[in-house]
Amino acid sequence: MNEKNTAYLKEAYPNVSRHITWFECHDGWFKLLCRLFGALESAVIKAKEPKLYYVEQVKQKFGALRVEMSATHDNDGLPLEGLDTALKQAESDSMSICETCGKPGYIINNHGWIYVSCDEHNNEKG
Ligand SMILES: [Zn+2]
Repeated sequence: MNEKNTAYLKEAYPNVSRHITWFECHDGWFKLLCRLFGALESAVIKAKEPKLYYVEQVKQKFGALRVEMSATHDNDGLPLEGLDTALKQAESDSMSICETCGKPGYIINNHGWIYVSCDEHNNEKG
């Protein structure tokens, strides 16, 4: 993810992104990440102990967005409301969004290199 988008995500969603140095995915997923981080941020702000929750890693794995959180449950072992739903939704949405440009895309398996691409960017890579 480029510097401008990285800086935006860190500024706009300071609680959840405070330990993120970089996002290990391309800029086509920027809008998806804005939606996801917005949802995570509002879930975390409502938690009893917001400090427990932050994003540890954002990456692409087997074509889908993967976001690792420091915690998804509170001290009583209960899931933090809204967190899991937002993460699963974003992961599932990512599988049809071109990671390069953000247009509708599909999963491509290029000799074991798996990613999501639109037709245009698949041709560039192939
Ligand atoms: Zn594309």
